[in-house]
Amino acid sequence: MKKQSNLSRLMQYAGGHRYFTYASWVLSALSALIALVPFWYIWRMIQEVLQVMPDFDKAQNLAVNGWMAVLFAVVAVLVYIAGLMCSHVAAFRVATNIRCEAMRHIVKLPLGFVQEFGSGKLRKIVNESSAATETYLAHQLPDKAGAIATPCGLLVLLLAFDWRLGLLSLIPVALGFLIMMSMTGSKMQQKMKEYQDALDDMSNEAVEYVRGIPVVKTFGQTVFSFKKFKDAIDRYGVWVIAYTKQLRTPMLFYTAAINGVFVFLIAAGLLFTRDGVTNEFLLNLLFYIIITPVISLTLTKIMFQSENAMIVNDALERIDSVLTLTPLSQAAVPQSPKDSSVTLEDVRFSYDGKTDALKHVSLSIRPGQTVAFVGPSGGGKTTLANLIARFFDPQEGRVRIGGVDIRDISKTQLMDTVSYVFQDSKLIKASILENVRLAKPDAGRDEVMRALKAAQCMDIVEKLPNGVNTVIGTKGVYLSGGEQQRIAIARVMLKDSPIVILDEATAFADPDNESRVQRAFTELSKGKTVIMIAHRLSTVVGADRIFVLKEGEITESGTCRELMEAGGLFRKMWKDYQTSVEWKVAKEG
Ligand code: ADP
Repeated sequence: MKKQSNLSRLMQYAGGHRYFTYASWVLSALSALIALVPFWYIWRMIQEVLQVMPDFDKAQNLAVNGWMAVLFAVVAVLVYIAGLMCSHVAAFRVATNIRCEAMRHIVKLPLGFVQEFGSGKLRKIVNESSAATETYLAHQLPDKAGAIATPCGLLVLLLAFDWRLGLLSLIPVALGFLIMMSMTGSKMQQKMKEYQDALDDMSNEAVEYVRGIPVVKTFGQTVFSFKKFKDAIDRYGVWVIAYTKQLRTPMLFYTAAINGVFVFLIAAGLLFTRDGVTNEFLLNLLFYIIITPVISLTLTKIMFQSENAMIVNDALERIDSVLTLTPLSQAAVPQSPKDSSVTLEDVRFSYDGKTDALKHVSLSIRPGQTVAFVGPSGGGKTTLANLIARFFDPQEGRVRIGGVDIRDISKTQLMDTVSYVFQDSKLIKASILENVRLAKPDAGRDEVMRALKAAQCMDIVEKLPNGVNTVIGTKGVYLSGGEQQRIAIARVMLKDSPIVILDEATAFADPDNESRVQRAFTELSKGKTVIMIAHRLSTVVGADRIFVLKEGEITESGTCRELMEAGGLFRKMWKDYQTSVEWKVAKEG
């Protein structure tokens, strides 16, 4: 039932190409049947040999029959290749369509989700899962059709020549089949899943372990400090051994049954020939001895089918985990913000539906104001800023820009209105010029240069071998975190949107970089509404308004001076900050 639904889902992606898939099954089954024909010619050859024995010169048709056997074997291969060609045409189309649909969906998802999910994981889902469906459709299903056709053809052959021998050779097949069912039944599918989980666990721990190697080295720890990793390996080991032991007996019997067809045949041969051997019986016996290995081959092929179905099921579930995510809504009749003010009305937001990252937050920022969000780590500063850029939609309340609910602003207009400078700005592997121009593809070179200058990037440009045309990320051209952030500021500068969100870096490696980034921020802020996520208090002194966020709520707001006078959390944070600065100065002095 489940398999059927997987297949029909895949066929939806195939569209008109589904007929290629069906054709591939027919061709593959046909090829399997044609592949049995050579055996019939072999039978005729044996027959002829037995008839003319011992006067072998009389055998006239041996060569013809031999060549006919070869011919049919070749035809079987050619038909199979034709089947594979059909299946590949459909399979590639399905994989492409799955990829396209997933990508189309992903671009409609909230940006916050994509960030959280991780681009690596998304890529893996989209690429690898669609590739799994490709193998399934291109190879596994046609092979399955062949694997079903072969036993049917065999059955006819086996019973046609000598039904007694035919039935006898079916006994081990039936036995093997029963044992196989016990090995691949639903209980075993559950086991397979457990096996996958144990394997996943182990690889996750391995990644953690590799990440932790610097710590191990720095602190002179031994591998045993990674107890979790060792535990995962041990668990896996115990599981695999138990699993293997469980399969040992059925596998033993399966192999014995499948390969033991000869035992039945020879015993039967002895039994049936008590009254003397006829040529015809000898002929049939020889034929059965030749053809029965095909049975074991076919059964083994079928055995792996359920595993393949599980893999494609898993792949479709992964794809669904992306496709079922709700995209951001788009307004039917978009409206334009009237100015660059930002208002939040009783906003509640939760990442997981259980704990609120923001609870009942209301605030209003006038056009051109510079405001700062401060507060302890995990207080909700980043979340709040993310909601203003619509990386997520709040569960309750609304966010307005220029008086318009941001859900009613078109995506492109919102992007033109709000820019975000992230803490770890992502630069792509392209020249600096192109990296900046991403913000405004039609910008001229002069315009980009002005933005770079204003963002204090000229020192970076000057030191690089090819200036603005230097490609980042190649031939040892790497920029420090602060330098990357300045390029990102240049990008936002070029965009020139009326509202800017700045996520300040938490630490700078060198004071020179820090002051340049500060200057770039100041340049960028001119004439704009600026929302700053402040991780260090030194930058908030000049802000028009400071919002203190703690546990998802705004506990204080006002100018720096007002908050100092109020004597709340901000004042305490300020004092701590001062102490740390003094401590730092004393240490450096
Ligand atoms: P801040 O920026 O003030 O350090 P955040 O806005 O990052 O705070 O976090 C607010 C709360 O939301 C914290 O409790 C944090 O654990 C939680 N949180 C932040 N990002 C996520 C996320 N992507 N998924 C789940 N919870 C998150």
